[in-house]
Amino acid sequence: VASASATLVLPDTIANAMRAALEESRETGGVLLVGLAESPDGTLRVLGRELHLLGEGAYLRRERGELVVGSDAWAPALARAAQIGAAAMWFHTHPGASGRPFRSRRDERVDELLAEPFRIRTGVEVYGSAIIAGEPQRARFAARVSEGTAWREISRVWEVSDRLRLTQAVEPDEAQTSLELFDRNVRAFGGGVQRTVSALSIGVVGAGGTGSAVAEQLMRLGVRKLTIVDPDTLSRSNLTRVYGSTPADIGQPKAAVLAAHLARIAPDAKMVPVQGSIVEEDVARRLIGCDLVFGCTDDNAGRLILSRLSSYLLTPVIDCGVLLSSTANGELRGIDGRVTTLIPGAACLVCRKRVDLERARAELAPAEEHARLAREGYAPALGRVEPAVVAYTTAVAAAAVGELIERLTAFGPEPVPNEVLLRLHERELSANRAEPRPGHYCDPAAGKLGRGAADPFLEQTWAR
Ligand SMILES: [Zn+2]
Ligand SMILES: [Zn+2]
Repeated sequence: VASASATLVLPDTIANAMRAALEESRETGGVLLVGLAESPDGTLRVLGRELHLLGEGAYLRRERGELVVGSDAWAPALARAAQIGAAAMWFHTHPGASGRPFRSRRDERVDELLAEPFRIRTGVEVYGSAIIAGEPQRARFAARVSEGTAWREISRVWEVSDRLRLTQAVEPDEAQTSLELFDRNVRAFGGGVQRTVSALSIGVVGAGGTGSAVAEQLMRLGVRKLTIVDPDTLSRSNLTRVYGSTPADIGQPKAAVLAAHLARIAPDAKMVPVQGSIVEEDVARRLIGCDLVFGCTDDNAGRLILSRLSSYLLTPVIDCGVLLSSTANGELRGIDGRVTTLIPGAACLVCRKRVDLERARAELAPAEEHARLAREGYAPALGRVEPAVVAYTTAVAAAAVGELIERLTAFGPEPVPNEVLLRLHERELSANRAEPRPGHYCDPAAGKLGRGAADPFLEQTWAR
C-alpha cells in the first residue's frame, strides 16, 4: 500500500549527530545505514543503524548551499552496509535559519544518480535519501525511500531514547487541530506534546487488568491509534479488574471487548483488536507499525518477544508487571509493581532477569509435552491462577502511562531511570538503570539494534 505512512526511527546517537552536523554552516554529507520493517498493513519503518559522515577530504566542494563529493567517497560506508545487511540512504544537511526541508532540483538528480550504485554496492533493493534542515534545535527533514522506481515519502521521524520526540514532515496546522477537548492535558504539558500523543500509534499487549487500564488512560490522553493484542476471551473472574468489561461480554474476545469500550470514549480513534498471542509470528508482526508498545502480558514467552522486538525494531517497550505474594494460608505479604522501559542502549528484560526462561520454555512447549514434563518434574507447572486486585493493576498501569508522558515532555530526573519499582505494601517507590549484558542482542555493539524485519523475524524460530 503506497499511501501507508513511512517513519524514520532514530536512536539518539544518530539523531544527535545529525543535529550536530547542522551546527556547521556549510553543507554536510554522509551515508545513513538503515534496517527496514514493513507491517502487514503496509506501514514502513526505516530504522537508523549507523551514520557515516564524510571526512573533510571527501568533499570536492563544500559550501552553504552546495556540496560536491568525489565518486568514491561513499565506498567505505556502502561496504559497511553490505557487511551488516543494511540499506543505504544518502544524507545531507541544509544548514542555517534559511535552510529548507525540501529537495532542490539538484538533490532530485543526485538521488537518480546514486540509487543504482547504492543498490548494487549494498546488495539491498532499497535506496533512500534524507535531508535535515534549519537550526539544530528546530530541525526539519525531508526523506524518502524507493524500491525500484516509485518513491515513498517519509512523513515522520521518531527519536527513541531516554526522551521521545516525534517530528512530522507536515506538522499539523496549529489553528486547525482543536485541542479544546484536551484542555486540561494541554495546561499540564502543552500543545506540542498533546499533538504528538494524538499522532502516535501505540500497541497494548494484554487486555487484562493492567492492559485495559493502560488503554483507557491512553484514550483519554488523546492517543488515536491503538493495536490491542490478547489471545483470550473474557471470563467472569476478569470483571473484577478489566476496564470496560460487563457481564454481557463474558465469552467475547478480550481485545474486541476493550476496543468496543474505547470506541465509545473516542469514536474518532482507530482501534485494531487482534485476538492472538504474540508468540505467533503473524500476531507479533502486527506490532511493527507501532511507535511504542505497552507490555501488559503476564506470560514469560510473550515478554521474550517484546524484549527482542524493542531491539530489532527500535520500538520502545514499556513493560509492566504486578506480583501479589501471599503466604500458604492466604495472607497477603507483598504487593510489587514494576514498570521497565526498553529503549536502544538500555538492558532488555532478559538482561534484567525479568523473564523466567524456564517458564517461557514451558509456555511455548506443546500442551501434551509440557504436561508430561511437568508430571515428571522437569518443567514448572503452568496455569496457576495468580492473585490480582484492581487497585494495584491500575496503580501500575498509571505508572506505565506516566512513563510515556515523562519521556515525551522531558520531565523528570537525569539520567532517566529505566525501571520503576512500586513496593506498594511498603508505600515505597524506587527507580534504577541497567546496562545491557555485553554481547546480548540489546547491546548496541552486538549490531542487532534496528536490523528490521528480515527473515527469520527477530532472528528466532517461531513455533506458530
Ligand atoms: Zn540539498
Ligand atoms: Zn539484553
